[in-house]
Amino acid sequence: MNVLVCGGAGYIGSHTVYELIEQGHSVVVADNLVKGHREAVHKDAKFYEGDLRDAEFLDRVFGENKIDAVIDFAAFSLVGESVTEPLKYFDNNVYGTIRLLEAMNRAGVKKIVFSSTAATYGEPENIPIVESDTTVPTNPYGESKLTVEKILKWSDNAYGIKYVALRYFNAAGAHISGEIGEDHSPESHLIPIILQAALGKREKIAIFGDDYPTPDGTCVRDYIHVTDLADAHIKAIEKLFRDNTSSVYNLGNGTGFSVKEVVEEARRVTGREIKAVIEGRRAGDPSTLIASSEKAIKELGWQPRFNTLSRIIETAWKWHSTHPNGY
Ligand code: UDP
Repeated sequence: MNVLVCGGAGYIGSHTVYELIEQGHSVVVADNLVKGHREAVHKDAKFYEGDLRDAEFLDRVFGENKIDAVIDFAAFSLVGESVTEPLKYFDNNVYGTIRLLEAMNRAGVKKIVFSSTAATYGEPENIPIVESDTTVPTNPYGESKLTVEKILKWSDNAYGIKYVALRYFNAAGAHISGEIGEDHSPESHLIPIILQAALGKREKIAIFGDDYPTPDGTCVRDYIHVTDLADAHIKAIEKLFRDNTSSVYNLGNGTGFSVKEVVEEARRVTGREIKAVIEGRRAGDPSTLIASSEKAIKELGWQPRFNTLSRIIETAWKWHSTHPNGY
């Protein structure tokens, strides 16, 4: 299959490109490199630098390649920034995908896997969260992704573009080869920050709140390995070709770990001192997010393989300890 990966130079996108190529697919990557890294793009992928909001650029990509399906990762993803700069998020994440869908229509490409998020749920009404639970995002990032899910539904209805939206919980870890990994600037995610502290690049890690209604008072999250996420995208494409129906899936391990537990496990894996101090809560953080991924397991035949916190942190450590300054 020939797959166009938008945002294929980013964290989850680059790992998906590696899995696609490993499984024998041809890959075209489109990325504007605003957040992505050219070095993260697999050498066997065909690379185009450009922006999804640029219709001419997209027509060139679709015109020069016979694309069977699209995977769309191209988006901004910082929750805090989305609160202060919502228009930037709606412009890139929503308008960019509208342009992509228009270009797909012009090119007659009718299958897309979309990168969505647990942030579509907002404060969860049940744990574990199932796909039919209420979606009331508490920040513009989650709202932008939920908006695209709705646009996809109506584009299916009108144009027959079939989609799978994948709602990730906390993506973490790095490729087992150590060649690619997580490199955000600025970094805001827990595991990279902890490992930067382990490397001495930060003096300490701040734990945002220890007064949540959780067993140790710190927030609980469902960490899912980036290669397991990558694998789910390929299974989602296979499903689209198998039954040509649209759907939405949660992707997580179904197990929650508190911030303190993650710090403790990172100390064990790295054998390093990691200084942690308790600070105030971060605005907009739900206390507990844990996925039910039963639907993905059943319908996609997906099964997370790096399904322990230690495996996740070990692979992240392999990347961070060999690339202390990122790419
Ligand atoms: N967190 C923290 N200190 C940090 C970064 C994150 O205590 O320096 C907490 C954050 O409040 C959340 C969890 O770690 O409860 C995971 O945060 P992250 O930003 O990695 O992912 P999110 O859950 O926001 O998508």
